[in-house]
Amino acid sequence: MFWDEAIETIKPADLKILQEKRLRETVSRCANVGFYQKKFKEAGLRPSDIQTIEDLQKLPFTRKTDLRDGYPFGFLAVPLKDIVRIHTTSGTTGKPTVVGYTAGDINTWADLIARNLTMVGLTKDDVFQNMVNYGMFTGGLGFHYGAEKAGLTAVPSGTGNTKRQIEMIHDFGVTAIHCTPSYGLHLAEAAAEMKMDLSSLRVGIFGAEPWSEKTRNELQEKLGVEAFDSYGMSELYGPGVAFECSEHNGLHIWHDSYLVEIIDPKTGENLGPGERGELVVTPLTKEAMPLLRYRTGDITMIMEDECPCGRGQKLARFTGRSDDMLVIRGINVFPSQIEHVLLSIPEVGNHYMVYVDRVNHMDEMTIDVEVSRENFHGELADLKNVQNKVIKSLRDVLELRTTVHLVEPGTLPRFEGKAKRVVDRRGDD
Ligand SMILES: [Zn+2]
Repeated sequence: MFWDEAIETIKPADLKILQEKRLRETVSRCANVGFYQKKFKEAGLRPSDIQTIEDLQKLPFTRKTDLRDGYPFGFLAVPLKDIVRIHTTSGTTGKPTVVGYTAGDINTWADLIARNLTMVGLTKDDVFQNMVNYGMFTGGLGFHYGAEKAGLTAVPSGTGNTKRQIEMIHDFGVTAIHCTPSYGLHLAEAAAEMKMDLSSLRVGIFGAEPWSEKTRNELQEKLGVEAFDSYGMSELYGPGVAFECSEHNGLHIWHDSYLVEIIDPKTGENLGPGERGELVVTPLTKEAMPLLRYRTGDITMIMEDECPCGRGQKLARFTGRSDDMLVIRGINVFPSQIEHVLLSIPEVGNHYMVYVDRVNHMDEMTIDVEVSRENFHGELADLKNVQNKVIKSLRDVLELRTTVHLVEPGTLPRFEGKAKRVVDRRGDD
């Protein structure tokens, strides 16, 4: 099912024409923003120098810190009287980033969300409970407007009061939910405790934090939904930037609204399809707050395969943040990749530590991982095959040789709050 079939399945040649037209419009809107006027001047560029997608490379990156420095309204390309709404991003330090929307932006954004909802098979017949924050966070109002546009029955339940959420799902015959994956699991457990039947549910949309295939299986099994991954960020309107189709193999990026590049986060160089790196996005339809080459800090890659659903370019599921990246013997390694491999091997537990050392000028990565309690019968030496399995699985995914130590259950550190599982002991030699 398509919301806008002509755009979603546009031919590459037509797409390029549309993208370049919108890129030129975006660049001319950016010429109203002090930050970009300065950047253009420094680079010796006039807006008219940017005509094609290839010209994008001439443009500077925009970083999150730039947006923060522009607090509150430094990045708005239109006067405040033309702004109909503002949101802010949840900054962990200092001032938040303010994002402004024109009436046109709100409409375009709702359209993108309507596309996503239609793509995952939702129609007017569905009742959609939106269990995310409706305040400054973009997830609430963003999905809400899109759901109404697509004609769904929207239930703006927001966050909190899990018991009430479960009752509403049950009483209203809710068929689709949107929440974070961790809240989805919590909901399932609470419903089981309450002995409430949630069998009206058939679709779950999960976003705002990276999640694994293992979590998908758990969500699908416990909630009885088909689980879809949703990606977005407030700086790029909010949710709705990229979304999974029913193939569940990567997220379609809305190619008419976002130009994407993948770069090496250390060097800023462009990487090709199939190479994992930092996602850089140039939104093509934003009026109030246009951005050029925005560094998202999120790690993914452009997929090479054509999707059977007929829509365009896809991004692989997100595997973490560029600030977590390690470079081991010249290979980019994300701790989330290691976690993903370990979680896929039932013989080992959830607890592990990663150590990086430099031995004779060579990077060495050592992984200590606890054997799961069910698989431990007193002797680690009996588990040589498990150790080899972990080494092989890590090599297949990371393309890197690692040293793996199995340790007894319960012996590695436990973390309260954010886990610090990676210890980089390399000096600056
Ligand atoms: Zn698809």
